[in-house]
Amino acid sequence: MPEGLEAEIYRRALERCAGRTVDTVDVDSRQGEAEAITSLVPGRRVVSVRRHGKLVLIDLEPALVLGLHFGMTGRVVVDGAAPIGKLEYGSGRDDPAWDRLTVRFADEGAFRVNDPRRWARFTLDPTLDQLGPDFMSLRPRQWSALLGSRRSPVKVVLLDQQAIAGFGNLCADEVLWQAGIAPMRPANSLSDDEVAALAHAARRHLSAMLRRGGSHRGAISPAVRAALPSCPRDGAALRRDTVGGRTTVWCTGHQR
Ligand SMILES: [Zn+2]
Repeated sequence: MPEGLEAEIYRRALERCAGRTVDTVDVDSRQGEAEAITSLVPGRRVVSVRRHGKLVLIDLEPALVLGLHFGMTGRVVVDGAAPIGKLEYGSGRDDPAWDRLTVRFADEGAFRVNDPRRWARFTLDPTLDQLGPDFMSLRPRQWSALLGSRRSPVKVVLLDQQAIAGFGNLCADEVLWQAGIAPMRPANSLSDDEVAALAHAARRHLSAMLRRGGSHRGAISPAVRAALPSCPRDGAALRRDTVGGRTTVWCTGHQR
């Protein structure tokens, strides 16, 4: 957390900054590019706000891109309002001491990234070379190529940002549950029909979760993960296992 869906919610909130010119920037001095950001970003105008996976990209004019990585607990506050009040597993507090980046605009308003754990990172002209295609715009043929060439458990591939950018733990478990695929299956063992089911589940359920408010709004929600009731689809036992070092909840009945 935040996963790609939360980054998309932040991106949409930040879009209201388009057209504004940056006046001043405060950035945590421990950030690697702090000096460059404070000297190069002021005076530039926000043209557009994009997202790739969990990374939000603010296009500035004259040409410069400010990349926002939210780490484990980074939240965006735009003009005093937080599009996500409290992150799942995060703090609901908004302590000014946790502001790692504040961008103030010349005419009005500001946005900031508030991060209690200080893993958020800010970079200029970030390269996307290390990121796979975005998880919300992947085509069925790309799914086949990605999974067919990898022997790792399918969940590990979903979480590998170099393979597919955007999945976090909650969205990966949700999509596998919706598609009926066991998370520890080798990715290249999936049949064509199973790959198609996974592509369909991602396309349909990621956008539904986004509409409902984020990656915690799936059938395999944090409440379900904590209580492990019977499977909401077939009543079979839900299990909690570790796959690729991550806590994984899945159904022993319909996920095969
Ligand atoms: Zn089930």
